[in-house]
Formats: sequence, structure tokens, C-alpha cells
Amino acid sequence: NPPVTPVDPAASRALFERAQAVTPGGVNSPVRAFSAVGGTPRFIRSAQGAWLTDVDGARYVDLICSWGPMLLGHAHPEVLAAVSAAVARGTSYGTPTEPEVELAEEIVARTPVEKVRFVSSGTEATMSAIRLARGFTGRDVVVKFAGCYHGHVDALLASAGSGLATLAVPGTPGVPESSTALTVVLPYNDRAAVEAAFAAHGDRIACLITEAAAGNMGVVPPEPGFNAFLADICRRHGALFITDEVMTGFRATRQGYWGIDGAVEGWTPDLVTFGKVMGGGFPAAAFGGRADVMSRLAPEGPVYQAGTLSGNPIATTAGLTTLRLADDAVYDHISRAAETVKQGIAEAFTAAGVPHVVQSAGTMFSVFLCEGPVRDFADASRTDVGAYAAFFHAMLDRGVYLPPSAYEAWFLSAAHDEQALDAVLTALPDAARAAAQA
Ligand code: PMP
Repeated sequence: NPPVTPVDPAASRALFERAQAVTPGGVNSPVRAFSAVGGTPRFIRSAQGAWLTDVDGARYVDLICSWGPMLLGHAHPEVLAAVSAAVARGTSYGTPTEPEVELAEEIVARTPVEKVRFVSSGTEATMSAIRLARGFTGRDVVVKFAGCYHGHVDALLASAGSGLATLAVPGTPGVPESSTALTVVLPYNDRAAVEAAFAAHGDRIACLITEAAAGNMGVVPPEPGFNAFLADICRRHGALFITDEVMTGFRATRQGYWGIDGAVEGWTPDLVTFGKVMGGGFPAAAFGGRADVMSRLAPEGPVYQAGTLSGNPIATTAGLTTLRLADDAVYDHISRAAETVKQGIAEAFTAAGVPHVVQSAGTMFSVFLCEGPVRDFADASRTDVGAYAAFFHAMLDRGVYLPPSAYEAWFLSAAHDEQALDAVLTALPDAARAAAQA
């Protein structure tokens, strides 16, 4: 390929300096700052379909898709039209509205949940689901897996202590030990660890929460039967089984990851959390599940939960329009696009002699720069972050915007057409060589 002359990100650099003066680290969510890969984060001015344009005028094929939500691509005309019409009717009333009912019906129709409650972020969804599980069961211990991210909920910001069924220590300053003392952190995909935890604490466990397929340590799918095993052990001990589908919901498949193995293996979650795609690029998220559990929420039941902007009419309109447009053809397209990119990645790294493994959960995937398989967080930690940083910047210089961290999933959209995919495939071989030289 001809040598590339990357655009100097002068305008992004200037904005980043201003941002750092008034915002911690210059960003409103840490991974945006490029801390893991170095360099200047690009400030995006606009986006259309599969493409981002930054403030210096550089264009990139977007493989982040706002960290998942933009299933249809950016600025989809029908979503924009529905949102514009909704905005013209006023932006928030603090009363019930019709789009909330319609979006709830759409979610109930697609997934195993019977009732849903809307919130504004995935963090709120998991926080509320855990409170509800504790309120419903009258128990206090929560089980989670190392490497699964469920938002910045105090009780869930815990990393594994020392091994099996260790009561967790906080993963960040600011979270008191008392907040994580009731959280048990286990290695993902490890049935023996789960059995031991339930043997030790079974009658105190309110819930086990897991990403339906892990996507926040890179993509690490549950091994066959693992989610079914979790559902079963929770049921036997009277604990609730919560699947976090904030990332996978309406993304991995039309029915989320549950559509891949829940529907096949016959497990049903008691509660599910959603976010990202269901908000169509606006702040909307939800938790839902069994009617008898959801009915414990205020005002029907005693477990309190609320939100000024929950079920916001603009956000629910964007989500509803997105989900209605997300038919089988959309998922087929994204699936095929993902196969094309995954194959390109494998060929490029193989040719460059870089150890790698590409792992998928439905239409989501990521690449680990180490030998596979990666089945838990300890495996994921073997990925070569230095090589990824070199790869990331070589892709960026060639007009492809990847997640600025080796531990994130890559996302495609219905708008990733041949032109966008060609741009990715063209950039990959040089970028893989850059990784080899890192
Ligand atoms: N759960 C999962 C599985 C997620 O991927 C995320 C966000 N990446 C969250 C929860 C938190 O969602 P939010 O960032 O909207 O708070």
C-alpha cells in the first residue's frame, strides 16, 4: 500500500488541552482519553453511516459505534426524523408517555423479560436490578465474575481478591470495603468456583450477575452450557440469575445473546439489564424480568427506584425507532460484515507473524494479541497491549477508528457497506506489521 500521510490532529489537540483544564483527564468517560494507546483523542464533529469526521476534517470508518448503540449506523434518516418530530413536541414531561409503552412492549416481545422499567444508563440498570434482587430475596450477597463490567456501581467495582470465593476488595479508591464486602468475585467460565461459592454462601446469595457473553475484557463468550449451569445453580439456591445484556442486547442478535444460547439451551434469566442499542444513541437503559420479581418495585411494591428523566420521550422514541428498523436483514448484514473483518484480521496478523485470536459473541467480536483460547480475565490479561497500541495508531492513521483499548469489543453497523469494509481491509496488513514491530 502507498505510504500514508496522517492528518495532524491540531484542532483535536487544542480542544484536548482546553478540555483537560476544565474536565478531569479531558474526557467524560475514561477510555476515551487514549490513555491505553497514547496520543491525542480525536474530537468528533459529525458522523454519518459508518463514518466519523473529526474537527481536523479527517474521516474514519467507525468500529466503535458509540461503544455499541449505533446498530443502524450514525444519523439514520428514519431515526433522525422520528427524533426531530418528538423534539418538536417537547423534550421531557415527567409524566407517562406512549413511546415508553411501545418500547417496553417491543422489548418484552423480543426477550425473555415480562416487565421492564426504564432508566438512563446501564449503570443505573444493574444497580437497580441488584437492589431489586436483594429486596426480593431478603438476602445480601452478590456474585459476579472478574473481567465482567456492569457499570460503575460501587458493589460491582470489585476485582477478584485471592482466588476462589474470596470476598472482594474494591477496585477503585472511593468505594468503601463495606460496599464490596458482600460481593463475591469468581473467575469467568469456572464452574467449580461457582459451585464452591454457592456451597459456602448459598443461603446468603441474593443474585449472580453475569454479562450474557463477556464483552468488557474483550469478547469472551460463555462456554457451552455455562449460562444454563448458572441459571440452574441460582434456582437451586433461591438466588436470582441476572444477565447483563447492556452490550449484547439487540446487538449480538435480535434477541441479544439470550437468542444465541438461552433460547437453545433453555435457560431463562430472572432479571436482565439492557442499554446501548435500546436507546438508539440516547441515554436510555432498562432492567426487566419475571413479573413477580418486577412487581416488587415501587409503586407496585416496596423496593424504591426512580428517575427524573427515566423513559424520556426523545430517548424512547430513538430506541423504539431503532429496534423497529432492526429486522433480520440488519443482523444478517452485520453478521456478514463481521465475518469479513474477522477474516481480514486473522489473515493480516497471520501474515505478520503476530500471535492472535479473534473471539465472537454473535455480531460482536474482538481480537486478543496472544494465543487463544481466552476463557477468562487471567487469559485476557495475556494480550499484548503494546502491540495493540501500535496496531491501533496504524489503523487510525489509515482512517479506521478502533476502540482505544485492547480489552474492548469491536462494533459494526448496518451502514458498514463495501466501501467502509474495504477501507478496513486495506488498512489491516500494514497495521498488523506495525504490531509485529512494536
Ligand atoms: N453493563 C455492561 C455489560 C456494559 O458493557 C456497560 C457499559 N459498557 C454497562 C453495564 C454500563 O453502562 P453505562 O455505561 O450506560 O452506564
